[in-house]
Amino acid sequence: MARVAVVGAGLGGLAAAARLASTGHAVTVFERADTVGGKLGRFTRDGHVFDTGPSLLTLPQVYRDLFAATGGRLEDAVDLVRLDPAVAYRFADGTRLTMPGTAEAVPAALDAAFGGSAGAQWGALQERAARMWRISEAPFLRTPLQGAATLARLARDPADVAAIAPWQTLRGLGRRYLRDPRLRTLLDRYATYSGSDPRRAPAVLATVPYAEQAFGSWYVRGGLHRLALAVADRATAHGAVVRTGCAVRRIVVDGGRAAGVELADGERVPADVVVSGADAAALYGGLLPEDRRTRGVRRDLGRATPSLSGFVLLLALHGRTPGLAHHTVLFPADYDAEFDAVFGTGRFRGAPRPVADPTVYISAPDDPALRPDDAGESWFVLVNAPRHDPGRGVDWDEAGLSERYADRVLDVLAERGLDVRDRVTWRVVRTPADLERDTGSVGGSIYGTSSNGARAAFLRPGNTSPLPGLFLVGGSAHPGGGLPLVALSAEIVSGLIGPA
Ligand SMILES: Cc1cc2nc3c(=O)[nH]c(=O)nc-3n(C[C@H](O)[C@H](O)[C@H](O)COP(=O)(O)OP(=O)(O)OC[C@H]3O[C@@H](n4cnc5c(N)ncnc54)[C@H](O)[C@@H]3O)c2cc1C
Repeated sequence: MARVAVVGAGLGGLAAAARLASTGHAVTVFERADTVGGKLGRFTRDGHVFDTGPSLLTLPQVYRDLFAATGGRLEDAVDLVRLDPAVAYRFADGTRLTMPGTAEAVPAALDAAFGGSAGAQWGALQERAARMWRISEAPFLRTPLQGAATLARLARDPADVAAIAPWQTLRGLGRRYLRDPRLRTLLDRYATYSGSDPRRAPAVLATVPYAEQAFGSWYVRGGLHRLALAVADRATAHGAVVRTGCAVRRIVVDGGRAAGVELADGERVPADVVVSGADAAALYGGLLPEDRRTRGVRRDLGRATPSLSGFVLLLALHGRTPGLAHHTVLFPADYDAEFDAVFGTGRFRGAPRPVADPTVYISAPDDPALRPDDAGESWFVLVNAPRHDPGRGVDWDEAGLSERYADRVLDVLAERGLDVRDRVTWRVVRTPADLERDTGSVGGSIYGTSSNGARAAFLRPGNTSPLPGLFLVGGSAHPGGGLPLVALSAEIVSGLIGPA
């Protein structure tokens, strides 16, 4: 049995704690916030309840595996609902698309919305994406990153390499398969699931819409935050201790290996193994002593483009919106302008800025648990935003900026047909700077480093560290961000540590 210290009670840390405690290790989780969940947070006021981070669960099988491995059933712990329709899309030209929640129904819906051979075009792309998924799932998503060895595993068969096309971008793949510009916009959107720019992210991200449509879009009744509580329960059921309000100041290194953690109040907790679920940039940038062994990881982190962040509005609305979908996406006329603004590229080279005419995402579950009564609604509104970077980019703490931008987002909603400006009882604004303060993710990047660039997946920190005894889980480490992937990072790390 090893004494395991887990830094952070995000989903990666909690999933690692549950797995390691269930195999007999003595696990303590240290979380600096007062609650568990990290980015999978919750905000409650006056009977309005909001998920402040994730609003969509994909690949639920990953959490089924986690619960099965820790002696439970996911469906007994949370009430999972498969969404159908999955998303209501509105395009700049006025086209509306109600995306079905099952893959079989998608082509007909695309034909009905776009006409022509839209369904067949998307179907052909999805066949390619299914192949990419089969090739990459086990050797990449479920396996530790091992540099050349990982590449060799992925490149065993030249036909597989041709299918993954590591030299091709997601945008390039879209151009090849999709003639309708609205279909291309749809595909581009999936780059943002990893906080990336479709013009630079690899084609293999086509597996994201594939996985979403093949395995479904899911909601947790009562709010997704309940998933965090359920995973924390799995950990504590096996004896793990979760200490909230407990910030880790540094990882203790002794004899060249991780030997425990030192808390903000000076308490030192010895451990045989440390699992960090904190943002990898924060770990290597501040929690570890300068060490020549970690220089390479720091260099790779410096080379990678950080993922985009998000600007969030929590809206307590009076009145109900007829025909409102669970998830709605309103696209702008110029999607590229959004990526240029967020990443400071193209026309905004070197000067990222809030997006003037952003894509707006609304999550408004029709769930009585989330609203005070049937005369109101609780909307989570998200737009892509540049990270908080007062030195070189946007300073989200600049006086007046967040309220001005919140007004702008409400105006955009109105321009695109959803005017709720006179229905707002109150609103809460959460900027990338708030996300940084609340979860410790550097700049408020949602997914650590982005997938921008062919080498991005290999610049992302691995699950092992150069220091023996120190492992990484969570969205800023391999295999990346999003609820399913962070649980996979925990599966990989518990496999590396092994049972007690
Ligand atoms: C607005 C938004 C929308 C999103 N939407 C989706 C979605 O729809 N679907 C989806 O799958 N994913 C979504 N994501 C991404 C998803 O939330 C993350 O990938 C995932 O929750 C990250 O989990 P994690 O394990 O990396 O930990 P985090 O959630 O980043 O948690 C890390 C934890 O570590 C703690 N911590 C940090 N430093 C210390 C320290 N020194 N000492 C102690 N504790 C520390 C933090 O307080 C935090 O609780 C979204 C994220 C955001 C912000």
